[in-house]
Amino acid sequence: MRTPIIAGNWKMNKNPQETQEFLEAIKGKLPESGVEAIIGAPAIDLNALTWFSKDEPLKTAAENCYFEDAGAFTGETSPKALSDMGLDYVIIGHSERRQYFAETDEDINKKAHAILKNNMLPIICCGETLEQRESGKAEEWVTGQIENAVKGISDDDLAKSVVAYEPIWAIGTGKTATADQAQEMVHVIREKIASLYDADTADKVRILYGGSVKPANVKELMSKEDIDGGLVGGASMDPESFLALANFQ
Ligand code: PGA
Repeated sequence: MRTPIIAGNWKMNKNPQETQEFLEAIKGKLPESGVEAIIGAPAIDLNALTWFSKDEPLKTAAENCYFEDAGAFTGETSPKALSDMGLDYVIIGHSERRQYFAETDEDINKKAHAILKNNMLPIICCGETLEQRESGKAEEWVTGQIENAVKGISDDDLAKSVVAYEPIWAIGTGKTATADQAQEMVHVIREKIASLYDADTADKVRILYGGSVKPANVKELMSKEDIDGGLVGGASMDPESFLALANFQ
Protein backbone atom coordinates (compact mmCIF):
# COMPACT_ATOMS: atom_id res chain seq x y z
CA MET A 1 0.00 0.00 0.00
CA ARG A 2 1.39 3.37 -1.03
CA THR A 3 0.63 6.25 1.35
CA PRO A 4 -0.92 9.12 -0.62
CA ILE A 5 0.94 12.43 -0.76
CA ILE A 6 -0.35 15.96 -0.97
CA ALA A 7 2.66 18.14 -1.71
CA GLY A 8 2.43 21.90 -1.94
CA ASN A 9 4.83 23.74 -4.20
CA TRP A 10 4.84 27.41 -3.28
CA LYS A 11 7.33 28.26 -6.04
CA MET A 12 8.82 31.75 -5.51
CA ASN A 13 6.02 32.91 -3.22
CA LYS A 14 5.73 33.77 0.49
CA ASN A 15 8.25 35.53 2.70
CA PRO A 16 9.08 34.27 6.21
CA GLN A 17 6.31 36.38 7.79
CA GLU A 18 3.69 35.00 5.38
CA THR A 19 5.04 31.53 6.03
CA GLN A 20 4.51 31.98 9.79
CA GLU A 21 0.93 33.11 9.17
CA PHE A 22 0.26 30.10 6.97
CA LEU A 23 1.71 27.69 9.55
CA GLU A 24 -0.33 29.21 12.37
CA ALA A 25 -3.47 28.74 10.26
CA ILE A 26 -2.85 25.03 9.61
CA LYS A 27 -1.56 24.15 13.08
CA GLY A 28 -3.35 21.09 14.54
CA LYS A 29 -5.46 20.61 11.41
CA LEU A 30 -3.37 18.28 9.26
CA PRO A 31 -4.29 14.58 9.08
CA GLU A 32 -2.37 12.52 11.65
CA SER A 33 -2.23 9.50 9.35
CA GLY A 34 -3.41 8.20 6.00
CA VAL A 35 -1.93 11.06 3.97
CA GLU A 36 1.56 12.48 3.90
CA ALA A 37 1.31 16.27 3.70
CA ILE A 38 4.39 18.05 2.34
CA ILE A 39 5.14 21.68 1.67
CA GLY A 40 7.81 22.72 -0.78
CA ALA A 41 8.90 26.28 -0.15
CA PRO A 42 11.56 28.81 -1.10
CA ALA A 43 14.89 28.34 0.72
CA ILE A 44 14.33 31.40 2.94
CA ASP A 45 11.16 29.84 4.37
CA LEU A 46 12.52 26.37 5.08
CA ASN A 47 13.81 27.03 8.58
CA ALA A 48 10.30 27.91 9.77
CA LEU A 49 8.87 24.82 8.06
CA THR A 50 11.36 22.42 9.62
CA TRP A 51 10.71 23.82 13.12
CA PHE A 52 6.96 23.51 12.60
CA SER A 53 7.31 19.95 11.33
CA LYS A 54 8.94 18.79 14.57
CA ASP A 55 5.50 18.91 16.29
CA GLU A 56 3.10 18.63 13.37
CA PRO A 57 2.41 15.91 10.78
CA LEU A 58 4.03 17.89 7.97
CA LYS A 59 6.98 16.89 5.82
CA THR A 60 9.14 19.51 4.20
CA ALA A 61 10.62 19.96 0.75
CA ALA A 62 13.15 22.30 -0.79
CA GLU A 63 12.37 23.34 -4.37
CA ASN A 64 15.91 22.87 -5.63
CA CYS A 65 19.45 22.19 -4.48
CA TYR A 66 22.93 21.85 -5.93
CA PHE A 67 24.65 18.50 -6.36
CA GLU A 68 27.82 19.27 -4.39
CA ASP A 69 27.71 19.32 -0.59
CA ALA A 70 29.88 22.43 -0.12
CA GLY A 71 32.35 24.67 -1.87
CA ALA A 72 32.77 27.71 -4.07
CA PHE A 73 29.33 27.72 -5.70
CA THR A 74 28.03 31.21 -5.01
CA GLY A 75 24.28 31.38 -4.64
CA GLU A 76 23.60 27.64 -4.56
CA THR A 77 21.96 25.59 -1.80
CA SER A 78 23.82 22.61 -0.36
CA PRO A 79 21.89 19.31 -0.15
CA LYS A 80 23.92 18.46 2.95
CA ALA A 81 22.87 21.71 4.64
CA LEU A 82 19.23 21.00 3.75
CA SER A 83 19.53 17.55 5.26
CA ASP A 84 21.25 18.89 8.40
CA MET A 85 18.37 21.35 8.74
CA GLY A 86 15.87 18.50 8.73
CA LEU A 87 14.41 18.62 5.23
CA ASP A 88 12.70 15.43 4.03
CA TYR A 89 12.43 16.00 0.28
CA VAL A 90 13.79 18.08 -2.56
CA ILE A 91 11.75 18.79 -5.70
CA ILE A 92 13.94 18.43 -8.78
CA GLY A 93 13.40 18.84 -12.49
CA HIS A 94 10.33 21.05 -12.25
CA SER A 95 9.42 22.29 -15.72
CA GLU A 96 10.00 25.88 -14.61
CA ARG A 97 13.56 25.02 -13.64
CA ARG A 98 14.11 23.16 -16.90
CA GLN A 99 12.65 26.05 -18.90
CA TYR A 100 13.99 29.16 -17.15
CA PHE A 101 17.17 27.86 -15.54
CA ALA A 102 18.29 25.39 -18.19
CA GLU A 103 18.26 22.43 -15.81
CA THR A 104 19.15 19.34 -17.84
CA ASP A 105 18.37 15.65 -17.35
CA GLU A 106 22.01 15.21 -16.36
CA ASP A 107 21.76 17.90 -13.64
CA ILE A 108 18.58 16.28 -12.36
CA ASN A 109 20.24 12.89 -12.16
CA LYS A 110 23.23 14.35 -10.25
CA LYS A 111 20.87 16.14 -7.88
CA ALA A 112 18.86 12.95 -7.29
CA HIS A 113 22.07 11.15 -6.27
CA ALA A 114 23.14 14.03 -4.00
CA ILE A 115 19.72 14.15 -2.31
CA LEU A 116 19.64 10.40 -1.65
CA LYS A 117 23.24 10.38 -0.41
CA ASN A 118 22.18 13.02 2.12
CA ASN A 119 19.25 10.91 3.39
CA MET A 120 16.52 12.95 1.79
CA LEU A 121 14.20 11.86 -1.02
CA PRO A 122 13.83 13.43 -4.46
CA ILE A 123 10.49 14.40 -5.94
CA ILE A 124 11.42 13.98 -9.60
CA CYS A 125 9.25 16.02 -11.96
CA CYS A 126 8.55 15.20 -15.57
CA GLY A 127 6.01 16.27 -18.15
CA GLU A 128 5.42 17.13 -21.77
CA THR A 129 4.49 20.31 -23.63
CA LEU A 130 1.17 20.69 -25.43
CA GLU A 131 3.00 20.41 -28.75
CA GLN A 132 4.59 17.11 -27.72
CA ARG A 133 1.23 15.76 -26.61
CA GLU A 134 -0.51 16.82 -29.82
CA SER A 135 2.19 15.27 -31.97
CA GLY A 136 1.92 11.95 -30.13
CA LYS A 137 5.37 12.21 -28.54
CA ALA A 138 4.36 12.68 -24.90
CA GLU A 139 4.96 9.12 -23.67
CA GLU A 140 8.35 8.81 -25.30
CA TRP A 141 9.41 12.20 -23.90
CA VAL A 142 8.22 11.59 -20.35
CA THR A 143 9.62 8.07 -20.08
CA GLY A 144 12.91 9.38 -21.46
CA GLN A 145 13.01 12.06 -18.75
CA ILE A 146 12.45 9.39 -16.11
CA GLU A 147 15.05 7.02 -17.52
CA ASN A 148 17.67 9.80 -17.49
CA ALA A 149 16.72 11.04 -14.03
CA VAL A 150 17.06 7.65 -12.32
CA LYS A 151 20.34 6.46 -13.88
CA GLY A 152 22.49 4.69 -11.30
CA ILE A 153 19.90 4.91 -8.52
CA SER A 154 19.46 1.63 -6.62
CA ASP A 155 16.10 -0.12 -6.52
CA ASP A 156 15.80 0.46 -2.76
CA ASP A 157 16.41 4.18 -3.17
CA LEU A 158 14.04 4.49 -6.10
CA ALA A 159 11.31 2.61 -4.26
CA LYS A 160 11.34 5.35 -1.57
CA SER A 161 11.48 8.21 -4.06
CA VAL A 162 8.62 10.17 -5.55
CA VAL A 163 7.87 11.02 -9.18
CA ALA A 164 5.57 13.87 -10.19
CA TYR A 165 3.98 13.86 -13.62
CA GLU A 166 3.14 17.43 -14.52
CA PRO A 167 2.01 18.11 -18.08
CA ILE A 168 3.32 21.61 -18.78
CA TRP A 169 0.09 22.65 -20.45
CA ALA A 170 -1.79 22.04 -17.20
CA ILE A 171 0.53 23.97 -14.84
CA GLY A 172 -0.93 27.21 -13.54
CA THR A 173 -3.36 27.32 -16.44
CA GLY A 174 -6.49 26.11 -14.68
CA LYS A 175 -6.54 23.40 -17.36
CA THR A 176 -6.27 20.09 -15.52
CA ALA A 177 -5.52 16.92 -17.39
CA THR A 178 -8.59 14.73 -17.06
CA ALA A 179 -8.24 12.09 -14.39
CA ASP A 180 -8.11 9.49 -17.18
CA GLN A 181 -5.33 11.33 -19.04
CA ALA A 182 -3.35 11.66 -15.80
CA GLN A 183 -3.88 7.99 -14.91
CA GLU A 184 -2.83 6.89 -18.37
CA MET A 185 0.54 8.66 -18.22
CA VAL A 186 1.20 7.79 -14.59
CA HIS A 187 0.60 4.15 -15.51
CA VAL A 188 3.04 4.44 -18.42
CA ILE A 189 5.65 5.86 -16.00
CA ARG A 190 5.09 2.98 -13.58
CA GLU A 191 5.52 0.48 -16.41
CA LYS A 192 8.71 2.20 -17.49
CA ILE A 193 10.07 1.89 -13.94
CA ALA A 194 9.07 -1.80 -13.93
CA SER A 195 11.01 -2.32 -17.16
CA LEU A 196 14.08 -0.43 -15.88
CA TYR A 197 13.94 -2.06 -12.42
CA ASP A 198 11.30 -4.63 -11.50
CA ALA A 199 7.59 -4.88 -10.70
CA ASP A 200 8.16 -4.65 -6.95
CA THR A 201 10.11 -1.37 -7.19
CA ALA A 202 7.54 0.09 -9.60
CA ASP A 203 4.78 -0.89 -7.22
CA LYS A 204 6.40 1.02 -4.35
CA VAL A 205 7.31 4.33 -6.06
CA ARG A 206 4.77 7.00 -5.38
CA ILE A 207 3.76 8.86 -8.51
CA LEU A 208 1.94 12.17 -8.19
CA TYR A 209 -0.01 14.18 -10.71
CA GLY A 210 0.50 17.94 -10.86
CA GLY A 211 -1.18 20.69 -12.86
CA SER A 212 -4.11 22.71 -11.54
CA VAL A 213 -4.93 20.26 -8.74
CA LYS A 214 -7.45 21.82 -6.37
CA PRO A 215 -9.94 20.74 -3.69
CA ALA A 216 -12.64 20.35 -6.36
CA ASN A 217 -10.76 17.79 -8.45
CA VAL A 218 -8.45 16.04 -5.97
CA LYS A 219 -10.84 13.21 -5.12
CA GLU A 220 -11.40 12.17 -8.70
CA LEU A 221 -7.66 12.22 -9.44
CA MET A 222 -6.92 10.25 -6.28
CA SER A 223 -9.51 7.62 -7.14
CA LYS A 224 -7.30 6.46 -10.03
CA GLU A 225 -5.32 3.32 -9.46
CA ASP A 226 -1.81 4.58 -10.21
CA ILE A 227 -2.12 8.19 -8.97
CA ASP A 228 -0.70 8.44 -5.47
CA GLY A 229 -1.15 12.13 -4.85
CA GLY A 230 -0.78 15.66 -6.09
CA LEU A 231 1.97 18.21 -6.48
CA VAL A 232 0.03 21.41 -6.05
CA GLY A 233 1.09 24.96 -6.88
CA GLY A 234 -1.59 27.66 -6.78
CA ALA A 235 -4.04 25.80 -4.53
CA SER A 236 -1.39 25.05 -1.90
CA MET A 237 -0.78 28.67 -0.94
CA ASP A 238 -4.01 29.35 0.87
CA PRO A 239 -4.18 27.52 4.22
CA GLU A 240 -7.86 26.54 3.89
CA SER A 241 -7.32 25.17 0.42
CA PHE A 242 -4.16 23.25 1.46
CA LEU A 243 -6.04 21.77 4.41
CA ALA A 244 -8.94 20.75 2.17
CA LEU A 245 -6.47 18.99 -0.12
CA ALA A 246 -4.56 17.28 2.71
CA ASN A 247 -7.85 16.13 4.26
CA PHE A 248 -9.34 14.93 0.95
CA GLN A 249 -10.06 11.50 2.40
P1 PGA B 1 -0.38 24.47 -10.31
O1 PGA B 1 1.21 24.14 -10.27
O2 PGA B 1 -1.02 23.59 -9.28
O3 PGA B 1 -0.47 25.94 -9.94
O4 PGA B 1 -0.85 24.17 -11.68
C1 PGA B 1 1.67 22.83 -10.13
C2 PGA B 1 3.17 22.81 -10.13
O5 PGA B 1 3.80 23.54 -10.90
O6 PGA B 1 3.79 22.05 -9.35
